[in-house]
Amino acid sequence: MVRSTIVVMEDLMAVESSAPATTISPADRGKKRKRNPQLPWCPSRPSPYKLCTDNAADEQYAETLHGMFRKCRRIIVVVGAGISVGAGIPDFRSSRGLFRTMKDDFKLKGSGQSMFDSSVYQDEATTAMFHSMVNSLHSLSQGAEVTKFHQLLSQLSMERRLLRLYTQNVDCLEISLSGLETAVPLPVKAPWPKTIQLHGGLQKMVCAKCGWMGTFDPKLFQGSRIPECTECKELDSVREVVGKRTQGVGRLRPRIVLYNEFNPDGEAIGKVTSADLKARPDGMLVVGTSLKVPGVRRIVKEMSSAVHAASGMVVWINEEDPPAAKMFENCFDLILKGDCQDIPCILERWENSKSRPKRGLAPSKKQKALEDAGDIVSSIAGKAKSGRDRKITDVFKITKMAGEKEKRVKLEN
Ligand SMILES: [Zn+2]
Repeated sequence: MVRSTIVVMEDLMAVESSAPATTISPADRGKKRKRNPQLPWCPSRPSPYKLCTDNAADEQYAETLHGMFRKCRRIIVVVGAGISVGAGIPDFRSSRGLFRTMKDDFKLKGSGQSMFDSSVYQDEATTAMFHSMVNSLHSLSQGAEVTKFHQLLSQLSMERRLLRLYTQNVDCLEISLSGLETAVPLPVKAPWPKTIQLHGGLQKMVCAKCGWMGTFDPKLFQGSRIPECTECKELDSVREVVGKRTQGVGRLRPRIVLYNEFNPDGEAIGKVTSADLKARPDGMLVVGTSLKVPGVRRIVKEMSSAVHAASGMVVWINEEDPPAAKMFENCFDLILKGDCQDIPCILERWENSKSRPKRGLAPSKKQKALEDAGDIVSSIAGKAKSGRDRKITDVFKITKMAGEKEKRVKLEN
């Protein structure tokens, strides 16, 4: 049994790595492991496969993945920026990612990661850079179309196979799709939405003082000026009228969680994660994330133990290898390297290849008997109604007769 551990999410964005919460040793897992539902094919060891859409050479992994999408009923999906690259939104850590480009654009001394640290509000210059970055991300997200992979996740949810989607993305692309809705703020008690935004989202702005929340307005976040909260302002003016002393006016900020700061949804995320662990998830996909954030690493580690205890399978889909950390040893059963946007195509191709009759196979005994008896000819002739159909039937008859004649001639010789 998996010891369900409440994931404390306050350190979600903390930079320090946390100790692994291993629940089942690999040796024990090996003994207990029996797959149910049975997948048609399962890799004995997680050799990385390269995703490809142009041939069926890697049919084995396609079959496994297809089996998972068709048979598992409580799939956990953990995604990162990699799933939105196809929508034109840059990721964070790749060579073309935001951390790299921001370092160049803003001539930062350190990595662009500092632009996502709570310290951005410490001086005017970094506040202005932060606002500029948030505005450009917001504008990209607003203009972006959901990708095929986002649609695949929505389909999974509509087929009632998705237990939960945990997203680190703040672009809010997934939550626009049916079956992938979220709730802001995240409720501490069930029912929880399908999508859990681990780091908030750019669709909302919030007052740091009174907690008022509204739709993100990019016009307010220009330059180094931090916008004031109108709710706080109104309250303050009312207090002034009745002669009470001012309580101050709060500042607005995008409702995203920065490094080294408190996550307002932390407690709720801990509760939903705990509930999902108890729900015995039977499959997990970890897609487009390098798993650098400790809180997310812990979710993946604990969920993978729960999935393995339920005889399920954990799949890694990314351009890069999984992290080499000891906590992820024996964590991934199938490693697929490449663009996750190829997955829908690979599944479709595999499905089509299975529904097509195989070429080069001998006809069945029944089919051969019918052919020999000339039933196929008469059946087609009986169905033929249009002139064109009749013509085809005639050609078929003649060919067949010619064939028989040839056969006879051959026999006579
Ligand atoms: Zn306020």
